[in-house]
Amino acid sequence: MEPREYILPKPRGEGHFSDPGCSLTPPPVYAPLRGETASPHAAGPYVVVRDTYKTLPVNYWVYPQDVDKAGPTYGKTPHIMAFFEKLYGVDYPWQKYDQISVVSGGGAESTSATAMTHNIMVDSKHEAEFSAEWIVAHELAHHWWGDLVTLCSWAHTWINESFATYSEYLYSAAENGSDEGDLNLLQKLNQYLREAKTRYIRPIVTERYDQPGDMFDGHTYPKGARVLHMLRNLLGDEAFFATLRHFLAEHAFRPVDTNDFINSVKEVTGQNLAWFFDQWLYKPGHPVFEVRSEWLADRKVVRMQVSQAQDFAQGVPVHHMPVTIGLYFPQGRVSKQVWIRAKEESFEFAAESKPDFVRFDVGNVLLKELNHPRDEDELRAQLKADDAVGRMEAAALLSGLKDSDEALRAVVDSALSDPFWAVRRTSIEALRRFPGGRTLAPLQRACLDSNSFVRAAALAALGDRRDRELGSFFRERFEKDESDLAMAEALRALGKTGDAGHIPFLKEIAAAPSFRNLLGNAAQQALDLLGSANVKGAKSSATEDLGSRASLSTSRSVSVSELGVWGSR
Ligand SMILES: [Zn+2]
Repeated sequence: MEPREYILPKPRGEGHFSDPGCSLTPPPVYAPLRGETASPHAAGPYVVVRDTYKTLPVNYWVYPQDVDKAGPTYGKTPHIMAFFEKLYGVDYPWQKYDQISVVSGGGAESTSATAMTHNIMVDSKHEAEFSAEWIVAHELAHHWWGDLVTLCSWAHTWINESFATYSEYLYSAAENGSDEGDLNLLQKLNQYLREAKTRYIRPIVTERYDQPGDMFDGHTYPKGARVLHMLRNLLGDEAFFATLRHFLAEHAFRPVDTNDFINSVKEVTGQNLAWFFDQWLYKPGHPVFEVRSEWLADRKVVRMQVSQAQDFAQGVPVHHMPVTIGLYFPQGRVSKQVWIRAKEESFEFAAESKPDFVRFDVGNVLLKELNHPRDEDELRAQLKADDAVGRMEAAALLSGLKDSDEALRAVVDSALSDPFWAVRRTSIEALRRFPGGRTLAPLQRACLDSNSFVRAAALAALGDRRDRELGSFFRERFEKDESDLAMAEALRALGKTGDAGHIPFLKEIAAAPSFRNLLGNAAQQALDLLGSANVKGAKSSATEDLGSRASLSTSRSVSVSELGVWGSR
């Protein structure tokens, strides 16, 4: 059956869709280049929503009921294409680009045609909370990393996936700012660490796999992306991006392996970074740093001792890396770069007065685990003055001081007024560990936060108090909040009150349609909770199923697990 076509107007610049409800023109309209089908995975019926980048056809093949969602879901594609062209220094190398809805899977690109699960389709109301741009960026990046240059064997899968995953970050940081970029990198670190700590470690580049699918894991995607981030910091932006451009130009339309990339680094920078690639690509694991720092008043120095405590028996090497140490004073930060070369290192930095706090790895560059004890004063200073990731770390560590009024006040202040929403959310999670009587009022205030992820976190924290008295508060939040994320959390919280009086209301919501059935699922979970006192294994929330940033289930500071959920390749 021929697809119908919508042509989306671009009244306000490239890739911008203000009005997806535009005119229908008669079929047949789509003429695939060279007669290929759009995607081997696709099955109709489809509506083709047409877009362009320069003169290039950019088409979104969606199911008829999703036409209005094509713009909010895919509309940034031309904009992202322009971003990657500039970044990689090579124009999009193909004659068209199609993205095609399919019923299952995550994203699967083949040259110039990407199959995308229709579960990513999002309407304009929910676009900010459930943005698909990261997966759109990832699959588009493969048209350089995977298609323009193609790995010669599965051992080198990172050349496809680490670069596409790092490209998600590069786009996010450029588009949404450095805090969002830092959060993106932190999520990638935690995705990798979950796999490394609960399943296995392996070299990123290895011939030892049973099935090619074994290579599509937390090492190839997020760890490799973080390795590229370290390489970029080591080389500097100019040399790093010059290397990418050189590599792509040199090997265009040819198969490549890891050595080709290492040679490109050498050709562009003159540096032999065999040690870097050996430790990060050909050896497993990551460094686990034990750091101790103190100011010695008599000598006016900060002494820092750094030990590496990873499991060397598994083949993890002693890591060799430059790292930036930050000494934070009321008047600003003093940064010192040192090289870590041995299992035990000791450094001293001149400091006329005691720093407010000391930071190992300013910029959060290294892929690492870190244990760096600091006292309460230092943590409170860090919570105020560090970057977003450092503030999240400080909030998490302060939650271990649950008997301290000062610590509680600092975390409350952060939960209610930190400039970055993800820090506020982490501080709300930290508040769960303080005595309940002291945190009720701030958590209720946080339910009015400007950011829906923060509101949802506050409602979840309040819900877990299982306080019957809060029932009317949750009902009010459900009525007044406009975000489905927060409303769903209010419903779940109602279920946790144990008050059967909410059952008729919840039944009504459970039966009503909502975006991705977020509200219906949440109401059903609440009903399950009210139906039996100890419901185990109630189905996970729809927000988790869909890999939203709103998922609050797994870790204090980071809540996303796109990998595995989406299975993007
Ligand atoms: Zn991929």
